[in-house]
Order: sequence, then C-alpha cells, then structure tokens
Amino acid sequence: MSEQNSPLLPVLGTDERRPLLSVPDSELLAWLASAGQKKFRLKQIRKWLIERRITSFDEMTDLPSALREQLKTDFRFSSFEQVGHQVASDRTEKLLLKLNDGELVECVLMRDPGRRTVCISTQVGCAMGCVFCASGLLGVKRDLSAAEIYEQVLVLHRLMEDDEKITNVVVMGIGEPLANYRNLMEALEVLTDADGFGLGARRITVSTVGLPAKIREFADSGRQFNLAVSLHAPNEQLRTEIVPVNKGTGLQQILDAADYYFDRTGRRISYEYVLLSGINDNPQQAEELARLLRGRNAHVNLIPMNGVSELVMTAPGEPRTRSFLSVLESRGIPATIRKRKGADIDAACGQLRLNRQAEA
Ligand code: SAH
Repeated sequence: MSEQNSPLLPVLGTDERRPLLSVPDSELLAWLASAGQKKFRLKQIRKWLIERRITSFDEMTDLPSALREQLKTDFRFSSFEQVGHQVASDRTEKLLLKLNDGELVECVLMRDPGRRTVCISTQVGCAMGCVFCASGLLGVKRDLSAAEIYEQVLVLHRLMEDDEKITNVVVMGIGEPLANYRNLMEALEVLTDADGFGLGARRITVSTVGLPAKIREFADSGRQFNLAVSLHAPNEQLRTEIVPVNKGTGLQQILDAADYYFDRTGRRISYEYVLLSGINDNPQQAEELARLLRGRNAHVNLIPMNGVSELVMTAPGEPRTRSFLSVLESRGIPATIRKRKGADIDAACGQLRLNRQAEA
C-alpha cells in the first residue's frame, strides 16, 4: 500500500509525524525492522496503546529508553491535543480535541449500568444544515481522516477506570458520516479488527441524515453495523424545511434505502426524531409518522431537542413529548424517548466547538 492510499494517513499540519495510536501493525513492524528492533516489541507497544491507557511514550516502561526515543522522533503519540474536558454530574465526559491543523472536534463518553457508549465525530463541521443543529451552523471545513475518527475511541478509552470497557460506539458526533464514507469505513475496520480494538459490528451505530446511495453502499458492505436514520419529520414538505438536504434526496428514497439496509443486513433500523416545540411535535404529526413507518421493522428514537444558544427552537415539555410517544405506541410503532445525558455540560453536539470558535 502506498503512503498516499494508507487508510490511516493523518492530515498533515505542523507536525508531520504519524500518530502512533493508529499506525497499522504492518507498518509498525516495518519500522521496527528498520530501527534494528526485534519483532516482539510490536506486541509490547500495542498492549500499551490499547490496554493500558497511557498518554505518552515515556510511560512505556518496559521498552528500552533508546527505542522510546526513536519512537518519539518518528511518531506523534496521537492526532490530537486535548483542549477541553467537561465532566457532567452523571459522569458523562466530553472532550474537545484540537487536530494537527488547528481544527476542533468533539467526542463524548456516556455511562450507563453495564454499558459505556462513546459518541464520535466524522467531519469538522457539517454541510447538511439541519436547522436545529449546532454542528452545521458554520458549514463543513473538512473530512476527518480514518485515524482521526478511530483515535477518538482510544482517547475516550483512556478516560475510563481500569475495570471499565467501551461496549458501544455511536457515530453521532459532528459531521455526516456517510458523506465521509471511505474514511468512516476504514476507521470502523480498525475498530472491529480482532487484533485492534476488537469491537463487534453490532455494537456500532452509524447515524445518517439520510443519503440514499450511501445507505445502499453501506448495506452492501456485508457488515452488521446498526443504521440510524435522522428523519425528524413525517412528510416531504416539513422535512425539507427542517433538514434542507431532503430537497435533493426525498423522503421516500431514504425509506426505500433504509428498507434495503434492513433486507441486506437484518438489522432493525432506528429512526431518530428530534422533537421541536410547535414544529414537528403535534399528535397529528405522530399519526402521520406512524402511517409512514407502518409495516417496517423500525424503532423510533424521540429526542427532545438539546438547547443550542444561537437558536430559538426548543424542546416541547414533557407532557407533549409523552403524548407523541403514546400515539406511536398505540399504532404499534416501537418507540422510546432518548434519555438525556450530560445535561449540565454543553450537551448538544457541536456546541462546545461552536462556543470555542466564538471565543477565538
Ligand atoms: N449527521 C448525522 C449524525 C450526526 S447528528 C445525522 O444527521 O444523523 C446525530 C443526531 O443528533 C441526529 O439525529 C441529529 O439530528 C441529532 N441532533 C443534532 N442537533 C441536535 C440537537 N440540538 N438536539 C437534539 N438532537 C440533535
């Protein structure tokens, strides 16, 4: 594989050394050979990187110091510098990471009993322009590399106690994952690789605004990832108002592509529906949504909107949220209200980055 095509090639900025966290084994082996080091060092280094949660080369205490110095010369430790870290009262943790070229992304660790879910980003900003979302307010700057996507999981892994383990990954951070499909898939390959992080595909959920051609390509990948489709409206007209890219894609095409995903993978589709007070939250709209999804193997995830300081839209109150849910339930559509995590930190995706950019 040439340097150009390497899946884990970082975006070059001021520091052109590769981030060791995401350098593939084959490459590390070649490097060890050229540095006159023995092969078994690979296993030692990997163990440090994946299992032992260190943050610098100096902590690799069973490596000879000369090897540590060689590593430092040729590699960066990771693609990121951590510039923000918030911990909520429910122990949700959010990181603001600065990339090599100075851009910022966010990722989140959420804790539930027996479950540790990380939420990762795929782009710097977003081009989709959903009207309630903080991530898209400044448009998209660039795609994240596969390394930058994958390393967020490792960086969050380092925040956890020794007896904690990441059980689930949701690709629901900043950006549209299917608009950065190639890098996303390369990162997911590394995450699910038994010699790497070893996470099961069924524990990974990719959330998309709904790009039909890409959903089909994803279905054809032959993997068992979960797909979540951000629907947010029960009809074409309202969806185009809330999710502007809908104009070019069309609601029916998205549902057809999601059906195809279910047919190919057997994985039940999640439909996300952000509840916006006075916009998409009335009982008739719940009826319309139920009709749209009837007969489909689907689950609706109702998400009361997280406040975004730049926007006037808000979440409906609890009674209205509950009545939306009960309409769906009475029509036989499985649905749940997403539990709010990290309520006392900048919980809405992209909010932290946005605030930081406003300060700059
Ligand atoms: N671009 C992808 C993934 C990132 S957003 C997508 O559209 O699915 C992940 C989920 O968070 C999406 O369902 C998105 O619509 C939702 N979301 C964005 N801003 C939100 C907000 N302010 N409150 C609640 N959910 C939000």
